[in-house]
Amino acid sequence: MLAAGSTIGILGGGQLGRMMAVAALQLGYRVVGYAPEGDNVAADACSDFITAAWDDAEALARLAQGCDVVTWEFENVPVSTVQSLPAALLACPVKALEIAQDRLREKHFVAALGGTPAPYAEVASAEGIAAALARIGTPGILKTARDGYDGKGQWRARTALEAGGLAFPGVPCVYEGFVTYETEFSVILVRGRDGDVRFWDSTANLHEGGMLARSILPAGALVEAQVPQARELAAKVAAELGYVGVLTLEFFATKHGPVFNEMAPRVHNSGHWTIEGAATSQFENHVRAICGLPLGGTKTRFASIEMRNIVGGDALKAHAILAEPGEPHLHLYGKAEAREGRKMGHVTRVGHALK
Ligand code: AMP
Repeated sequence: MLAAGSTIGILGGGQLGRMMAVAALQLGYRVVGYAPEGDNVAADACSDFITAAWDDAEALARLAQGCDVVTWEFENVPVSTVQSLPAALLACPVKALEIAQDRLREKHFVAALGGTPAPYAEVASAEGIAAALARIGTPGILKTARDGYDGKGQWRARTALEAGGLAFPGVPCVYEGFVTYETEFSVILVRGRDGDVRFWDSTANLHEGGMLARSILPAGALVEAQVPQARELAAKVAAELGYVGVLTLEFFATKHGPVFNEMAPRVHNSGHWTIEGAATSQFENHVRAICGLPLGGTKTRFASIEMRNIVGGDALKAHAILAEPGEPHLHLYGKAEAREGRKMGHVTRVGHALK
């Protein structure tokens, strides 16, 4: 158990790190953030923040020296960065990052544990696109195997004609058949150092332009019916990885059961509602898990919950939300530039309290 006053290192400087740092401070820990130059909004909530490249050996040594445990808030932290840190500092297994950074590995891994991904084919060259189309057909999505997020690095083809326009982007890709689904949902779990696993309720996740827009509870009958199977898979993934902390798996709820989309070895946007809506938030339980503290309850506290992302220029008007009825809970991330499509904050609205 990490004593109060100990220091947590967080790799990555975004809003997830910022909310994680707030939870860590509340539990009496110090936080040192680490990320390359950028709009590192986590720094506002950190006792110290190291701005350095992912391969800066001197800066990484400084981080290691100053921390008692290290975690990440961003799944594209280079594996070599994490591996250069003393293994004893790492709460979460680096294998989780290795797998989640590569869509192909991720699908193989989950399929081997009994999960069902969308039909997919590896695309390693321009010729590979035609072969993948012959096997999977349209509609489908070409995705870069690495470095994609929030719908970036993805090209959709609804028809054979559109598929003719798909160009090989010069990096390894995967072509996926388009899944017909009713709702998207995620399973978010926390696993303690002792293997204790707890799940939050699964929200229905509504996307706009490939990016999460809203998460809603109750999630509806179809999601609720598919959650047990999805949880079973998520628990297997966590156990197989020897995972410690918060882990997220995203699914499509289809007529034929849950289809695995992707996993994130970290706290997740679709779990932001847990700050006000659950007995313990995903951020606090992640900190508890990596520090070896007892995990908190994950029960939902309200009959209905809606988390909505505030994207782009909307953030400038966001304080007006506080005047709206229903006690909205506003979180702004302190980002300097409200670029279009950028997550600037979120607002959570809750219904009546559950006994
Ligand atoms: P991803 O980055 O892979 O999670 O994709 C972003 C979003 O695009 C997903 O949350 C879905 O809304 C949509 N999407 C991605 N892949 C598929 C698929 N194979 N079938 C249907 N929708 C998809």
